[in-house]
Amino acid sequence: MTTTAGRTTAAYDDLSAVLRGDLILPADPGYDEARAVYNGMIDKHPAAIVRCRDAADVIACVRFGRAHGVELTVRGGGHSAAGLGVADGALAIDLSLLRSTTVSPEDHTVRVDAGCVWADVDHATVAFGMATPSGFIASTGVGGLALGGGIGYLARRFGLTVDNLLEADVVLADGSFVTASPTSHSDLFWALRGGGGNFGVVTSFTFRCHDIGEAGTIIGGPVLYDIADTGEVMRWYRELLPSLPEELSGWIAVLTIPPAPPFPEQLWGRKACGIIWCYTGPHDRADEVLEPVKAFGSPLVIGLQPMPFTALQSAFDALYPTGLQWYWRADFFNEISDAAIEVHRKYGQQLPTAHSTMHMYPIDGAASRVATDATAFAYRDGGWAGVIVGVDPDPANAEVISRWAKDYWTELHPTSAGGAYVNFLMNEGQDRVRAAYRGNYDRLALVKERYDPQNVFHVNQNIQPARTS
Ligand SMILES: Cc1cc2nc3c(=O)[nH]c(=O)nc-3n(C[C@H](O)[C@H](O)[C@H](O)COP(=O)(O)OP(=O)(O)OC[C@H]3O[C@@H](n4cnc5c(N)ncnc54)[C@H](O)[C@@H]3O)c2cc1C
Repeated sequence: MTTTAGRTTAAYDDLSAVLRGDLILPADPGYDEARAVYNGMIDKHPAAIVRCRDAADVIACVRFGRAHGVELTVRGGGHSAAGLGVADGALAIDLSLLRSTTVSPEDHTVRVDAGCVWADVDHATVAFGMATPSGFIASTGVGGLALGGGIGYLARRFGLTVDNLLEADVVLADGSFVTASPTSHSDLFWALRGGGGNFGVVTSFTFRCHDIGEAGTIIGGPVLYDIADTGEVMRWYRELLPSLPEELSGWIAVLTIPPAPPFPEQLWGRKACGIIWCYTGPHDRADEVLEPVKAFGSPLVIGLQPMPFTALQSAFDALYPTGLQWYWRADFFNEISDAAIEVHRKYGQQLPTAHSTMHMYPIDGAASRVATDATAFAYRDGGWAGVIVGVDPDPANAEVISRWAKDYWTELHPTSAGGAYVNFLMNEGQDRVRAAYRGNYDRLALVKERYDPQNVFHVNQNIQPARTS
């Protein structure tokens, strides 16, 4: 009799018999494809992967894991840079076939199955001139992003993704199923809004939507400057941003200009500092609102133009396909200090590969008006989430990009607020998880004790159950 991670294949036959979805074992065709995640550095060998078709499949997997002592992982879009959707010897609960969305234009809501990526949600809502806050890349999974916080173009105007979550359907560690909302399992609902995958497997989310732009057409795109102007640009940006109407947001980056249209060929491969802007207000006010953005400095590129919100959301997807090597380090920042700018100037000049970059995403406006303890996401100080990202297609460059990101982070960290966005952590240890949640960690540990006392869901940025008895 063959075994996989100590379980007989007969046990998996029993699991397979109760599933609507597919059970994939190491000997099966498609196993290598199924175990691969977005970050090409991750090379895990799960004991089995279940591509779930419905909540019942998720329940069956959770019960199987408990009954047979098999570690469980949960995979949404597979974008975790730390590779948390898969683990050696575990049963991977793969939600990627759960891709349905249902928009209610009257209620301004969208119900989203947990295997959707943000492109699915944007596609569904922008058709109605609406969007719900998400991130900056459409290929990212809804599940991981929404449970960790969700920082994107709409955060200044409408808050984080978690601030727009209305309810979630959840399979708990004991295999039971609940709906969490402000009026049902409200402690769980609080914890899900930033606490990651610690409390159960979410099978569907319902989000509030907002009218954006003109019938979903916004004005957005990059304004890029020579890398030598980094100091001047960052000082201007940090003063300007708080004074801008919340319909306009922009994240600042150091990057290499991609070798593709719409960028002029003579700029391809040139290092730059720049801001990616998104204006979601009425278009007859756009000239006035964008005037200071267009008037500053000597830009190499002014790429602002009307476009469907879906186009801006997916603008970087082709540049960052699945399977590249990724290593990132991150922190929150209350300010972009002069000392920080010196570090950005230095490491921006030394970008190790064309895909490597540094981003600072604003968490101000509506996102900062939510109380620190209103959701598990604790960082509401009105600053930025920064992330230093080493990326390259070639595994031979894994060490080079990791070293650059670590060195950059080590010099920048003293200027930070102390902790990082939980969705931008690698496997950095318990102190960094605590720092991400600040004063909310202990309350999260109590909710964990109530809903997952055995820490069944621990392949994540783990909140350890408080021992209350
Ligand atoms: C290219 C890129 C761009 C990004 N841009 C942004 C951005 O703009 N804004 C932002 O906020 N973040 C961003 N992120 C970070 C992103 O939020 C995290 O990587 C997130 O974990 C991705 O979610 P996923 O479902 O794709 O991940 P997965 O790897 O599938 O899962 C990550 C973690 O979430 C848990 N999880 C996922 N789905 C569920 C579920 N349904 N129920 C319970 N647990 C679940 C998993 O168990 C795992 O621990 C980006 C990441 C990448 C790689």
